[in-house]
Amino acid sequence: MKCRHCQAPLNQPFVDLGSAPPSNAYLSEPDLHRPETHYPLRVLVCSECHLVQTEDYVTEDTVFDADYAYFSSTSRGWLAHAKAYCERMTERFDLGSESFVIEVASNDGYLLRNFVERGIPCLGIEPTASTASAAREVGVETLEAFFGTELAEKLSRERGKADLIAGNNVFAHVPDINDFTAGLAAALKPEGVITLEFPHVMRLVEFCQFDTIYHEHFSYLSLLTVERIFEKAGLRVFDVEELPTHGGSLRVYGCRQAAGHARTSAVETVLAEEHRRGMDTDGYYEGFQVRADGIKDGLLRFLLKAKQEGKSVAGYGAAAKGNTLLNYAGVRPDLLPFVCDAAAAKIGKFMPGSRIPILDPAVLETWRPDYLLILPWNIAEEVRTQNAHLTEQGTRFVIAVPELTIL
Ligand SMILES: [Zn+2]
Repeated sequence: MKCRHCQAPLNQPFVDLGSAPPSNAYLSEPDLHRPETHYPLRVLVCSECHLVQTEDYVTEDTVFDADYAYFSSTSRGWLAHAKAYCERMTERFDLGSESFVIEVASNDGYLLRNFVERGIPCLGIEPTASTASAAREVGVETLEAFFGTELAEKLSRERGKADLIAGNNVFAHVPDINDFTAGLAAALKPEGVITLEFPHVMRLVEFCQFDTIYHEHFSYLSLLTVERIFEKAGLRVFDVEELPTHGGSLRVYGCRQAAGHARTSAVETVLAEEHRRGMDTDGYYEGFQVRADGIKDGLLRFLLKAKQEGKSVAGYGAAAKGNTLLNYAGVRPDLLPFVCDAAAAKIGKFMPGSRIPILDPAVLETWRPDYLLILPWNIAEEVRTQNAHLTEQGTRFVIAVPELTIL
C-alpha cells in the first residue's frame, strides 16, 4: 500500500487492532442470524509525510450508508460547540445575508441551523440519507453527496463559491484526502476561509486514545501533515486553535495561498510543539501497540473481577469508540450485558461485532448497575451530570481510556 497523500510506500506499523466490522454498522435483530463482515483494522504511518492512516479495506459507501446512525444533535455539548462556532465565524469574517457558507458532512444540520437562524445563506453536503433528511426538517438545505473536486467544481458553477467552508470531523474521514482538499480549494472564494476540525494525533498518542481508530476514520492528523496536504492543493494554514473536543482536536483555518489572511503565531506554536515531540520522525510512532494492549488488558481485568464479585456492569454510549474498544478486547454480552444510548436510531439495535444490545437509558432506572462504563470518555462529564441521580443509588461511573478509572 502507498501513502494516501504522498504515495510513498507504507512500511511502518503504528497499531494493529485485529479485525472488526465497520464501527457504525449497527445490527438489527434479524442481522443476528447472519454473518458479519470483519475487516482488518491496522494503522500505518508514512515515513515521508508522517500521515498516520488506516490500511485500505473499506470503501466510503460501506461505512456511510443509508442507515448511518450517527446523529450529531444527540450530544448537547456538541450542539453548544456548533452554536459558539457560528457566532465566532460570523463576527470574525463578517458574514451576512450576502455570504455563502458550505458545510461538508453537515450531518443532521446541527451546525448550519445556526446560520439559517441568522439569515446567512448556506448549504449542507451530506452523503448519508438518514441525517440529510433530519437536516432538511430543521430547515437546512442539504445536498446528498460525497464531497470532492468534481462536486466542488459543479457547485461553484451552479451556486457560486463560498465565503466559509466548514468541515467538522470530516477531514480525517475521507479516503482520498488530496482530492477532498483540492475540492475545498475549488469551492472557495479568493478571500474565503476554510475551517477544519479533526482530532489531533498528538493527543491520540499522548493519551493512547486507540479507540478513536476505526475504519471510517482514515487519517490521524498533525498540523505538520495538514500543512503539506494544504500546500499541494494551493492552500495554506493561517490560524489554528486547540480544542478540547474528542480528547483534543485542532481547528485549522485555511485559505488560498494568495489570500490576504495573516498567519498567526498560534500556527508556529503548534508546529514547534509537534517538532519538539518528534512527530516528524518515525521514532515518535513506535511503542503505541504496547500501550494500547495495556488498556485493553485493564478493561478485561476490571470486567472479569466485577463478574467474579457478583457486581453488575452496564455500558453507556454506543459510539464508534466503544465498538473499537469492545471488539479489540473481545468483550461480549457475558461481560457487558447491554449498552445504553439516548439516540432513537440506535435503541433496539446491537453493537457491531460484540452484538451487545443497545437499550434506552430509561432501563437504568429499574436495572441499577453497580458500575456504568462510559464508552465515549470524551463526554464522560456530560454523561455523569445527566445521570447524577444514579450515584445516589450506588452506581459508580467507569472509563477505560487512557486507563481504567473508577470515577
Ligand atoms: Zn506520505
